[in-house]
Amino acid sequence: MAWFKKEKYTKLNPPKMRDRIPEGLMRKCDKCLEPVVSKDFEENLKVCMKCGHHHKLSARERIALITDEGSFTEMFTNIQTTDPLNFVDSKDYPTRIKGAKKSGYDEAVVCGTAKIHGRPVALAVMAFDFVGGSMGSVVGERITRTIEHGAAEGLPVIVVSSSGGARMQEGILSLMQMAKTSGALARLAAKNLPYISVLCDPSTAGVMASYASLGDVIVAEPDAQIGFAGPRVIEQTIRQSLPEGFQRSDFVREHGFLDRVVERKNLKNELGLLLFYMTRQKFDEPHEEPAGVAAASAR
Ligand SMILES: [Zn+2]
Repeated sequence: MAWFKKEKYTKLNPPKMRDRIPEGLMRKCDKCLEPVVSKDFEENLKVCMKCGHHHKLSARERIALITDEGSFTEMFTNIQTTDPLNFVDSKDYPTRIKGAKKSGYDEAVVCGTAKIHGRPVALAVMAFDFVGGSMGSVVGERITRTIEHGAAEGLPVIVVSSSGGARMQEGILSLMQMAKTSGALARLAAKNLPYISVLCDPSTAGVMASYASLGDVIVAEPDAQIGFAGPRVIEQTIRQSLPEGFQRSDFVREHGFLDRVVERKNLKNELGLLLFYMTRQKFDEPHEEPAGVAAASAR
């Protein structure tokens, strides 16, 4: 005899296919886990409407966000990765690169020239989708050439970082990019041309220890991870727990390593304003000035 007898049970009616939410219509915020409508989320520049968390943008989305429409011209795509160390980890390096190209990028940085509020700039935007935005010799070379192009043409340079650091598969050749990019920035500075570094989540390790931290002005998106070694490594080394908000934008700014924390929706205007302050370019062609220029001109 059974201990419990199923007398009656209600049959659960699964919702019909047409009643269900179509796939891709909703998504969850990575931070607060609240559901948001995908369309609203995209329109809000991938910033959570509930908690304000800034989700990662692709390099092309970033370029579309901060530059004048149709003004970006890509450069240096002829510089492509080789396998100088014949490196093999869980797979060989050429196979890893081939897989990474499915992201739609041919390397972890997109470089070129563009205009921001009518002002021409040399621009490099890192692509986190390509091997975690890691800096190998191609990333270093493309960024160096972008800086050198700025120096040769008299253009301000902007680098938007989003990277976990140097690319281990290229070993010492990756680390050499730190010195090379820094040297190019010193030559840019010698020409009195401005360099603005924009830090997105994450901006860490060898990238942060070179060009990302060398801006005349350094701005970051809210709550981006910014630092050299990861918090866990630091905690294990110093045997102390780290303070709340450690290595996040606001914390880094309060400790003097960052000039501004700028929300994504204001980033283009902020860059336009910085270029206005730092270049004072005279215009022949019509262009839209960033908000705040009129007030600055009146002073
Ligand atoms: Zn959220």
